[in-house]
Amino acid sequence: MTAEAVAAETGRDFIRDIVQADLDAKRYKQVVTRFPPEPNGYLHIGHAKSIALNFGIAQEFSGRCHLRFDDTNPTKEEQEYIDSIQADVRWLGYDWGNDLFYASDYFEQLYLWAEGLIRDGLAYVDDQSQEEIRVKRGTLTEPGRNSPFRDRAVEENLDLFRRMKAGEFPNGARVLRAKIDMSSGNINLRDPVLYRILHATHPRTGDKWSIYPSYDYAHGQSDAIEGITHSICTLEFEDHRPLYDWLLEKLPVPSRPHQYEFARLNLSYTLLSKRVLTELVRGGHVAGWDDPRMPTIAGLKRRGVPPAAIREFVKRIGVAKANSVVDVGMLEFCIREILNRTAQRRMAVLRPLKVVIENYPEGKTEEIDAVNHPDDPAAGTRRLAFGRELYIERDDFMENPPKKFFRLSPGTEVRLRYAYFITCREAIKNAAGEVTELRCTYDPATKGGNAPDGRKVKATMHWLPAAQSRPAEIRLYNQLFSKPTPDAANFAADLNPQSLEILSDARIERSIAEANSTDAIQFERQGYFVRDGDSTPDRPVFNRTIGLRDTFAKEVGGKG
Ligand code: ATP
Ligand code: MG
Repeated sequence: MTAEAVAAETGRDFIRDIVQADLDAKRYKQVVTRFPPEPNGYLHIGHAKSIALNFGIAQEFSGRCHLRFDDTNPTKEEQEYIDSIQADVRWLGYDWGNDLFYASDYFEQLYLWAEGLIRDGLAYVDDQSQEEIRVKRGTLTEPGRNSPFRDRAVEENLDLFRRMKAGEFPNGARVLRAKIDMSSGNINLRDPVLYRILHATHPRTGDKWSIYPSYDYAHGQSDAIEGITHSICTLEFEDHRPLYDWLLEKLPVPSRPHQYEFARLNLSYTLLSKRVLTELVRGGHVAGWDDPRMPTIAGLKRRGVPPAAIREFVKRIGVAKANSVVDVGMLEFCIREILNRTAQRRMAVLRPLKVVIENYPEGKTEEIDAVNHPDDPAAGTRRLAFGRELYIERDDFMENPPKKFFRLSPGTEVRLRYAYFITCREAIKNAAGEVTELRCTYDPATKGGNAPDGRKVKATMHWLPAAQSRPAEIRLYNQLFSKPTPDAANFAADLNPQSLEILSDARIERSIAEANSTDAIQFERQGYFVRDGDSTPDRPVFNRTIGLRDTFAKEVGGKG
């Protein structure tokens, strides 16, 4: 069975199996996991997979999950990211309780342990440039070469390391390296860098430090300090595990965590790399980190995706050890599933075409009841005003329809949802030959949408009253990239030029315009929508979360 199938059937995966076995064998009193983001960007849906895994395991096995900021690179990290990450984890529905930590909380301890490694002859200060170090590290087929500084005396190493800390040397002048094995088959063990000089102001420690620990040095030791039992990360760290273990073995750490790796989430038509997402924002390709086309948690939220849909999605994809690309259609399926259940129905006309009902009395309006949710009577009804002047969707009319077009055209009769049958009598055009208005008649005997003589119509269309509806701006989003596997190295070339369409003349029901709700709404026959924060009292703005059906697959022809 695939990981997907196992997850769907049992909710279990190989990591949960390991945790269960460890608890059965009483190896730990309590399982402790952590989610360790680097605050150098906003979280994306790939992170949601890791969050759901770490927090989910803690919940299911009555353990704890820490939120730990891996804040070891002050040149790229910002308070804005720290704040957004906390907000997004909460919004996804997870809670770290009091267990909020920062790798920077451990800088002092990490430093002292590094001095210990030097004293034990297990670390040395290297004066080579970054470039020299890189070149001499060797390749997969070629062993590395020892640094000429590798056999420095302990006292000299200690002195230099302390002066690095005191800020005596410029950036890049020296590094502290572990002394392991330059000919190891695993490049990560070829004397990895533990500390580098960086004169930069840290969001939390300010100017206190001139040296910062590497990810490899900070990560496992932070895990050990916090008593993490299962340190779960993505597959690219598999080759780092021997180093993770080496450091834990050599240092007097208070606990012994174990690292496990799983396959990161890749999603079709999407790039989940913080570098690319940062460039999309900085380059102005999108309106910000929370642009609804972004795969960030903030973007999905602004687009109207409910957190439950994201949780359901990551549950369905499961956790495996082999990399793969998940079809974005699976995420969309989960979004539709939830919204179909939760979203109230309303009517909106995205591209309005005016209709005048010639035989309806001028000045008269009547109130019509409309159902708020077809499967949930408790959601109740609302009233719509029907009158002589209406709007219908421009696409619902064709002057010279092809054979299979069943909606409105001259001489045909259709049902207006909840209201009456109408028949089109004439299309009025402007000087350019464009249809600007339809003249129709209605059958008063069809009130409620059924003919007493039993005659049928082939189409039911949504509509709005002209006077009692309100203008709105509607933003339709499509995939940000036009290729199933966009090229991360040259992503700009793969951007979808049609990823955003703004409809500025749309009309919506008066009741939606007046309510300030941020609840998801289904605009009948159009899709799911949510009010955007750009709305003003006079001009509500709605984002399309997703269409009703998977039309995208057909448009691009590829999948499905
Ligand atoms: P980078 O390290 O390049 O800045 P990152 O996406 O790995 O980017 P982190 O902040 O280090 O960012 O990620 C935090 C955690 O989320 C890590 O444990 C990482 O393995 C996990 N993670 C990141 N991307 C994905 C993904 N696409 N799928 C699953 N987990 C992910
Ligand atoms: Mg990372």
